[in-house]
This record gives sequence, C-alpha cells and structure tokens, in this order.
Amino acid sequence: MYNDDKENNGYVLNGELERQRKFMLEIKKLNEDFEKKYDRKKTMFISTFGCQMNAHDSEKIEGMLKTMGFVYADCEKNADFIIYNTCCVRENAENKVYGNLGYLKHAKNTNPFMKIALCGCMMQEDNVIQTIRKKYRHVDIVFGTFNLYKLPELIYTNIETNSPVFDIWKEHGEIIEDLPSVRKYKFKASVNIMFGCDNFCSYCIVPYVRGRERSRHPEDILNEVRMLAEDGVKEITLLGQNVNSYGKNLDENVDFSKLLRMVNDVDGIERIRFMTSHPKDLSEELILAMSKCGKVCSHIHLPFQAGSNRILEKMNRKYTKEKYIELVEKIREKIPDISVTTDIIVGFPGETKDDVDETIDVIKKVGFNSAFTFIYSKRTGTPAAVMENQVPEKDVKEQFNRVLEVLNPIVFEKNKAHIGKIFKVLAEEVSGQDENFITGRLSDNSIVHFEADRNIIGNIVDVEVYDCKTFYLMGKLV
Ligand code: SF4
Repeated sequence: MYNDDKENNGYVLNGELERQRKFMLEIKKLNEDFEKKYDRKKTMFISTFGCQMNAHDSEKIEGMLKTMGFVYADCEKNADFIIYNTCCVRENAENKVYGNLGYLKHAKNTNPFMKIALCGCMMQEDNVIQTIRKKYRHVDIVFGTFNLYKLPELIYTNIETNSPVFDIWKEHGEIIEDLPSVRKYKFKASVNIMFGCDNFCSYCIVPYVRGRERSRHPEDILNEVRMLAEDGVKEITLLGQNVNSYGKNLDENVDFSKLLRMVNDVDGIERIRFMTSHPKDLSEELILAMSKCGKVCSHIHLPFQAGSNRILEKMNRKYTKEKYIELVEKIREKIPDISVTTDIIVGFPGETKDDVDETIDVIKKVGFNSAFTFIYSKRTGTPAAVMENQVPEKDVKEQFNRVLEVLNPIVFEKNKAHIGKIFKVLAEEVSGQDENFITGRLSDNSIVHFEADRNIIGNIVDVEVYDCKTFYLMGKLV
C-alpha cells in the first residue's frame, strides 16, 4: 500500500523527488521531537473536493504526510495539519471551502499547533489567492496543481520562517514520478496516464488550472501498474481529462488504444477502467482494443453535455448530436453489452427549451445506463461566463427537472434488465446502509448491494441480481 521506498524495486528517483525526501525526513525528525515532548503524534486531516483526479492527488498528499510522521486525527478540529485539496469546477465546492475556512479560524485559536494548507484547482485562480491573502490570513500554506510534490518543502519553509507560504505556478514543470502514496482500497487503484487538457470547452475551467495536456511515458505507467498488481490490486482506473488523446505529446509511437493493450497484458490485473473519454477523440482503434482486451470493463463514460448542435458549438465540444449518436452505435456494434454513461449540463448560456428537447432526444435515442446531470455553473475566466443570455435559475431548474423526468425511468429500465442474471462483482466495502451488506461493482459499473461476510471484500464474486432501484441493484451471493 505504502510505496515510499522505490530504490529497492529498481526505480530511479529523479533529483527533485530526492530533494523532497530530504525535507520529509527533516519534518519527520521534528514530529518525533514533538511526540517526545507532548507524548502524542502530530495529526493530519485531508479534505478532498471534486473529481477522481483530485482524489488521486490526495492519495499522494496522504503518502507524503505519513512519511513525515503524521497520523490521522479523530476529527478536523483536533488535527495539527489540515489540508483542503480544492475543486473549482462548480461554485458550491468553492463556497464550501470558504465556509470551512471561516470555521477553522476559531478552531485554530484553540490549537496552537494547527497549520492550514490549501491546494488544488481553486488555488490556480488569481481572485481566489487575493481573497485568501485578504480575508483568510490564518491559512499557512497555499500551493496549486503543478507543484503538489513540493508539499514537504513548503511545510518546512513555513516552519522555518513562521510565516505564510504561497507557491503558485502558472505552468507545469516536469512530471514527478514515484511520490509516496496511500491508497484508499487495497484491491483497486487509480493511475494517472496524463495531466491537463487542451480542449478548452467554453464552460470549463480545467485547462486554465491544470495546464496543457502532457502524457506520462508508457513505461512509467506500466511500471506503476505492475507494482500495483504485485501489491494485490485487481482493478485499475486509468485517469486523464481526455484519455483518448493520450500520447499526442510523446516521442514514443503510442496512443490510448495501444496503452490499453499494454495494460491488459499486465499479470494480476483483472479489471481495467478509464475516464474520461472525449467523444471527438474516440478512435476506431480504441473501440477495437476495448473489444479485444478481456480485462477492460464493459463500460464507457462518454460525456455528451448537450443535444443541441447550436449549444455544442458554443460549448466548443467539436462534435454534433448526430456524430455522438453514431459513435455510441459504433461502440455498441462491437461491444453489444457495454453500458454507456454520460455527463449532461443544463442551463448553458442561451440554452432554450427547444435546445433541451434536443438533449432529451439524445437521452431517449442512446438510452444511457446512468448519467451525471449538472446545472451549468458560471466560472469566471471561461468564455461561457461572459456569454450573453445567461439562463435565469428558475428556468434552469425547470429544464433540469424535465431532463431528469425522462432520464431516470430510462436508467431504471436499464437496471431492471439485470434482474435474474448472475454477474461478476468486485466486492468493495461494507454498505453504508446496513453492515450485513457488501457494496460491489459490476463490470458495467452498476452498483450492487448483497448480503455477505466482510472478509470477501477485495474479491471478485458471483452475484445474482433480484431487484433494482434507479441508482443501484440488489443481489445475492451465488
Ligand atoms: S475536455 Fe472539456 S470539459 Fe473536459 S477537462 Fe477538458 S476542457 Fe474541461
């Protein structure tokens, strides 16, 4: 699980990582002195907002903090080191961070050792940094998405100088491999295959805060996957903002379909997932690779965002409604049992009821297995934020409900088709609803709850589905 020492495994550490390791050791010593003096270890609390990318970054943050000797706090207000890994894709997530920071000001008064750090996408926005400098002076360390690996150095600098440390880069540097990391699950893991995005969808802030697209070398990815397999990982999720353009900036002649085939050959890995796929870059080769690679799950998440070609153009998505539907048909032709899930935005500037009808038409024609539906969130700095005809909230809600009214019954019907059949399920965790139940995932990404002993967690088991709701299935162990 905990891979902070790669030398023994034959990996070459780059110079920057070695530098950070020295800081980690220095801080570890300081934390050991603290323990001797106060008879307790320094504690940490990590709060993660946003997508799987951020969740994966937080695993690295946790790995570094553990290497420095921090242990988990029982709750946030009792922690000595609090870090928020932030998201700026929607306004709610930003407001939550500000709200929590206000509360932490009081908590900090009662714990003289408390340090507060902020990182992630929000920190790449100039207006956020100005607000923090002005209104949240109790924050100790701030860094962005490009220099996560510098966390040990920034903590050390903050201790040395006893003053706030802000280190925000406007551009990415080299990809730093082999940071320590702590995985949430022993049996499944995410692997970044690329960082950043070049697509500039007009509503999206990601290209501005995560930088230009850059792919990791296939050998680095494969080494990581092999190491995870040796460590007992069965399911891998390959992560990128747009995995379908993987390899474009590499010297090696490799694209995502080739990478998928290489990962499929790694012994020990039983399931492969990936996200996210941009429809404009999904190639025939990839569809073929998915159909041929036995370990690739029968699921594709393919965001379509809007059904109206006029809105798709304003969104800068670079495909049409017709192309999207055609693409799904092609995928289903080669992989008939594949489940197709998507993202939908309602309320993009200028979107009318007729435009939403087009979205509803796509939902009906494709028959999605599931969808994340979002109300458009205006993000300062994106082209869409300054577009005319921003849709009033009440109209958006109305259209949003229209979309759900069509979508949910379709998803329910798709779920119903599982009833009476037996599926391979990766048993993931004890159900949050009932501790006698285990929650697991089918290859098609459906969630199933079934009664079983918790010692099956981490295994792929056979489950017969006997009932379903809109968002999950109920099953029994076979
Ligand atoms: S593909 Fe579009 S929506 Fe996705 S991260 Fe890039 S700009 Fe944002």
